[in-house]
Amino acid sequence: MERNKLINNFFIRFSVLCFVFIMPFADAFTEDIAPGNLKPFRILIIIGDQWKDPASYVVDMPNKAGEYSGYDAKPEVPGDWDFHHLAVLLKSWGIPFDVIRLDQQLLDRYMFLDMVGKPRYGTVIWDVNLSEKLLRADYSIITEMVNQYGIGFIALADRISQPEIQKLLGIKCNDSWESNDPMTTTGNHFLTREIVSPLLADPGPDVHMKREQVEILEGTVPIINQGFFVQATAREYSSGGRTVWIGNDYNYMFSFQGLRTLLRRAITWTIGYNLYKTWENAVIMIMDDPGGAQNAWLKHWNYAPLNQQTIENYLIKPLQAHQAVLNINFVPAFVNDAKKRLEPTWNQKFTDGFGLEHDNISGKKGFDEGIKLGVFEVMCHGLTHMQPDLVSDPGWYGSELEKERSEVGWYREFGDTRRNREIPAAEQLWRMKTGMAWLQEQFGVTPLEFWPGGLGSSISYFNNTPKLAAQAGFGWCGWETGYLGEDMVITNWLFFGTPESPLLLWALPDAHDFGITREPEKFATVFDQYPQKRFMGMNEFIGYLHASNSGGWNAKEKKLIIRLDYDPHYCMDFNKRSTVWNLEFSDWLLNELGEGYKLKTDGEYTSGNEREVVVPPGTGMHSIEISFTP
Ligand SMILES: [Zn+2]
Repeated sequence: MERNKLINNFFIRFSVLCFVFIMPFADAFTEDIAPGNLKPFRILIIIGDQWKDPASYVVDMPNKAGEYSGYDAKPEVPGDWDFHHLAVLLKSWGIPFDVIRLDQQLLDRYMFLDMVGKPRYGTVIWDVNLSEKLLRADYSIITEMVNQYGIGFIALADRISQPEIQKLLGIKCNDSWESNDPMTTTGNHFLTREIVSPLLADPGPDVHMKREQVEILEGTVPIINQGFFVQATAREYSSGGRTVWIGNDYNYMFSFQGLRTLLRRAITWTIGYNLYKTWENAVIMIMDDPGGAQNAWLKHWNYAPLNQQTIENYLIKPLQAHQAVLNINFVPAFVNDAKKRLEPTWNQKFTDGFGLEHDNISGKKGFDEGIKLGVFEVMCHGLTHMQPDLVSDPGWYGSELEKERSEVGWYREFGDTRRNREIPAAEQLWRMKTGMAWLQEQFGVTPLEFWPGGLGSSISYFNNTPKLAAQAGFGWCGWETGYLGEDMVITNWLFFGTPESPLLLWALPDAHDFGITREPEKFATVFDQYPQKRFMGMNEFIGYLHASNSGGWNAKEKKLIIRLDYDPHYCMDFNKRSTVWNLEFSDWLLNELGEGYKLKTDGEYTSGNEREVVVPPGTGMHSIEISFTP
């Protein structure tokens, strides 16, 4: 009896759940997505063995491969960076994706199709290297997906050794050799229309790049040339499937702005539409250390903390005048030497051993004001900015100012830089979570960025500091380490100061509150150096990186519905601001469905035919509905 009741309850609950969660989607992404041209908004990246983490969680820049380029007497060839770069690019644009790795997975039709045989992805990015570690794969599945289901296909560099893939792209690849000939666009194709030609590489060290030499088969359109050789192509199939090959060196191709833009345009062209974020004018300005204890104990870093008046006059006022945000890495706990324990930072008032007066109570008032006015954003600089173990040899508590106390290794928290070893995972996690909780209590806001003091961190896989910070619930590891999420961690982030990522700037004069205590008037000069920039909050950036977007068609009504799902934790910044995305359509889609369209955002008509879509504030689910009118 009891058991039957339980089962009944289960079925009732289950059907209610189905009704609540499945019904709205069934309504939106209707049954008849036509094969070919009406594609879902999600990307499948397929790689070989470039993801070094066997657990498929941490995406890092692989180490040097131990190979010689032929140029130097050192084995200076880097590891395979291509997958890392792809992950950074797609995350920074907010374009949703999944990853298949052919060193662990068997290529299967249902990786591309749902249970009833409809495409799950609008396009595939093919980045499969040649490696003995790959499992046996039937590459004709890819041909089938493009030819019969109209899924788009974008392939990179020389990751096209498979004959099926070359045939699909309509090229025959001979090999690659070094070339520094300039790349130029050719014709007036949608894919290259917004690319500056010749293509320019970001500033950086000169490198020796490979160029593929390919032959073009009939029906394939060359879109970029490098010297005598085609370096990018496009091809269309009657199924609605479109393929793009973007050539050049797999490690360095995305140092060209033009090839980054080409990848993004290729996503638009193969799917037919795209919703993405770019960061042309954005700056994230960061300052470290308020609340830290090291400035009381470390002789070369000794200063009195900022007081309320300095904060008001030299930080808040200029920030307000420029509608700017300063992102501050705060330290919530202070190490009290006399009591041999840690304590909350902001009620500390004392004179240090060098004779300086520390008044954190006054400083706190200034920081509170700035937070209330929206010009300061609270980020987490760990818990104490000091070693967890201050007792064991050689011991910090009670040590002399000119001896142990002056060793900088004591003032790091997530790597034991005094004893040259790592900090265990559990201790790190406790410090991260407690740092977050204390800052919440001290300032009334949740920090989403985590930055280990003085870069002191642990690097082995289990103690990996960025990985643990993701586990603790942070969304970004600062300053420039990268994305932290439940889906993945991406370190060694790239492309700052380009459309792909905001420019990171340190607060003048020296990135720390220390500099402001010495030369407070220097702080505001940043606004003369970057007059046109928008100084934004870190949490806004984190919100976009964590937006979970999806899209699909109501084929009968020629309606495209894009859903934006803003997580209440990672996207909390969107409670206080509207979000702005770029909406881009390919030429063929507009030709087919009509140049004119109407936009509804969250059910309200907004203007049509605009590149930027503004979504009202609020976390949770939003929708953009696009109706095409022939
Ligand atoms: Zn610091």
